[in-house]
Amino acid sequence: MDLRCQKTDCKHNNCYACKAKEVHIAKNTDCKTFDKDFEKTTGILQDVSRDMFEVAPEIGNFSHSDKLCVDCKAKCLFNKMGKCNANGITVLQNNEKGFCGTFIEE
Ligand code: SF4
Ligand code: SF4
Repeated sequence: MDLRCQKTDCKHNNCYACKAKEVHIAKNTDCKTFDKDFEKTTGILQDVSRDMFEVAPEIGNFSHSDKLCVDCKAKCLFNKMGKCNANGITVLQNNEKGFCGTFIEE
């Protein structure tokens, strides 16, 4: 599972890769595992360009990603018995939380 995430103010986020062992996606596609890191300042976030997000697979460390398990409660095409079976997902950000941008309504 390749999980790219734009929520760079989350404690589990490292260079747009998610370092959590398990991620929980809620019925409304919000990432429930999001944990705000107050040490990651807005100033740093603003320096990070969209281009950097696009090249994240090369610079991020995805070594654990095969084992990453995504539990999901959303009614999505990729949801198989409460687990995400997509090859990869992208978590996008709204004001406070992250949400699954790979969601496709079932
Ligand atoms: S918001 Fe969710 S997917 Fe993104 S880094 Fe945090 S825990 Fe992982
Ligand atoms: S792609 Fe679908 S099943 Fe997978 S985490 Fe996102 S909403 Fe859940």
